[in-house]
Amino acid sequence: MSATRDLRALPKAHLHLHLEGAMRRETLEELCVHHGVPIPPDTRGQHFDNFLGFVETYFAAGRCLVEREDLARLILEVAEDAAAHGAWWIEPAFDAERFSVPRADGRPSLFSSQEEGWEFALEAAAAASRATGVGIGWLSAIDRSRPPEEGMERARVTVDLVRSGRHMIASGMPSHAGRHAGIVAFGLHGNEEGFPPEPFADAFRLARDEAGLISAPHAGEIAPWPDGGAASVRDAMDHLGAARILHGVLAIEDEALIDRLGEADVCLDVCPSSNLLLNVFPDSAAHALPRLLEAGIACDLGSDDPLLFGPDLVEEFVLAREEMGLDDAALAGMARNSFDHSGAPEEVKVAGRAAIEAWLEG
Ligand SMILES: [Zn+2]
Repeated sequence: MSATRDLRALPKAHLHLHLEGAMRRETLEELCVHHGVPIPPDTRGQHFDNFLGFVETYFAAGRCLVEREDLARLILEVAEDAAAHGAWWIEPAFDAERFSVPRADGRPSLFSSQEEGWEFALEAAAAASRATGVGIGWLSAIDRSRPPEEGMERARVTVDLVRSGRHMIASGMPSHAGRHAGIVAFGLHGNEEGFPPEPFADAFRLARDEAGLISAPHAGEIAPWPDGGAASVRDAMDHLGAARILHGVLAIEDEALIDRLGEADVCLDVCPSSNLLLNVFPDSAAHALPRLLEAGIACDLGSDDPLLFGPDLVEEFVLAREEMGLDDAALAGMARNSFDHSGAPEEVKVAGRAAIEAWLEG
């Protein structure tokens, strides 16, 4: 009886998750009270009028990270939550620069440089992994609405960490011994409207060619112009060499692009609740996920920003099962994709695939 299989027990990797957006609501409120920061509205389950309204709430959440221990706590709790969701490996998006530049609230920044921020995040990820058994490989993220030179600088910092081996960490994953890469992917996020990916092509080339990072930009989430969602996905492939696309769901508008995604084996890191609450699709019946899978496109599931949207990773799987009619073979297929297209160590991928088969046979 497929409907009885426990989706928490399905082994998975979580590849589309923003660190600050993964904070627990209780932690947010506690930190806000502790630091005297206004508590932002609880937006879980609510529709956002536009992308900018969403970003505003996101940054409000980030303001309560005032001390380094707040950041370490966030990283540990994200790993604890991942363990509770059956995620073996996570790739949260992290931007060290955000914590190393002067803060808008006049408080001292957490770090004096991006390098220092990264070293802290890597150490905290290793500690969180040893406490939970969940492996963490960071996605180094740049913001498309910031100047391309900033993106290039972040790419250089990330590449230096990787090339010098300072990104290697000792985790606590049961299926892996020794050290592994603690930075595995390079991403681009922010409003697609008015911010095409071309200016970031050099930064992505550096990250891919010099550090072997997975190119994983956001694209095809909210159409930057009428019917422009598919073009945005195509641009991410053409200019950024995308191997994974975070969202990418609007590719469904263009049959030729769907063929191309399939041929290139580009994986889409799909977050249904985020799409629904940002009005990308009017309802779950209209969501592109089942059609993308039907077309043979590799997709996996993520929760994007559970602090802002509400549903956690397991609830995204439940939604796909109950509201999109996807059977357990399809759900297991997405879990398999999440390992295959991740930056996890090979042993973890092999063990993950075997455990997914066992889940499906059980
Ligand atoms: Zn995202």
